[in-house]
Amino acid sequence: MKKIAVIGSGTMGNGIAHVFAQNGFDVALIDISEEALKRALATIEKNMDRQIKKEIITETDKQAALGRITTITKIGEGAKDVDLVVEAATENETVKLDIFRQLDEVCPPEAILSSNTSSISITKIGAATKRADKVIGMHFMNPVPIMKLVEVIRGYSTSDEVTKTVFEISKQLNKVPVEVNDYPGFVANRILMPMINEAIITLHEGVAGVEEIDTVMKLGMSHPMGPLQLADFIGLDVCLSILRVMHDGLGNPKYAPCPLLVNMVMSGNLGVKTGKGFYTYNK
Ligand code: NAD
Repeated sequence: MKKIAVIGSGTMGNGIAHVFAQNGFDVALIDISEEALKRALATIEKNMDRQIKKEIITETDKQAALGRITTITKIGEGAKDVDLVVEAATENETVKLDIFRQLDEVCPPEAILSSNTSSISITKIGAATKRADKVIGMHFMNPVPIMKLVEVIRGYSTSDEVTKTVFEISKQLNKVPVEVNDYPGFVANRILMPMINEAIITLHEGVAGVEEIDTVMKLGMSHPMGPLQLADFIGLDVCLSILRVMHDGLGNPKYAPCPLLVNMVMSGNLGVKTGKGFYTYNK
């Protein structure tokens, strides 16, 4: 494995490109938006500067890593000669299925196609291609350069060999891969989202206020961030959409999103990205 393509250069895509380039892979960073690509390169540079300050990398490492990243707007050009794709485009099933159909056409037949999706079925994505055995989930955590986990999601048809290769690649990135099967929410969100939802229900029912709920979880459970603040960071729209996938896919009322979360999303209060969620953020 030498050359990879990252599809989507937003929050996750730029972090994924960063860690691959830093660990010696040539990266084609692909986005439909030129603007997003420019922002991604600036973010990668800024984050590498932080790593230099913390003496994690040197200026030479930074320049070498940046030199391994090329940006491009066309999947057909960027992904035609890669060994691995990590798709991190917008969390929308239609968008992702369309991307995977294109990738299946343009990538070499032996290339592994992975998705960083938080909630869309890897089995369904695989079924949109003619290589379901080579389609797998590589679920990185935000912020990618810092968080150690890669949740490796096996679709129904994913082969043992591909799973093993993705484990090896994750280790080359100094990450810790964990194998999970393809069910709604996988493991990370299956456990995290009900906790966040319960924190919102606790607020909604007037059991305690925002800061009180977060303080209980921070000081009582040693969580680095309270669940309501974490929800603001993830994006309340993202939390709602993952809960809906779990509610629909598992058919259990315990995953029903709290009406307060639904109202906050409908009103456009999505957390950090809009400046207001459970807390107010100064841009
Ligand atoms: P984002 O909105 O920040 O970035 C998405 C990018 O995809 C945008 O730059 C957009 O222009 C691009 N895009 C859209 N359609 C495209 C296409 N057809 N071809 C190429 N690029 C396209 O989103 P994000 O937060 O980086 O999330 C990306 C993926 O990662 C999603 O599947 C999400 O569920 C998953 N994820 C997100 C987080 C998180 O904390 N944000 C954590 C884990 C996983």
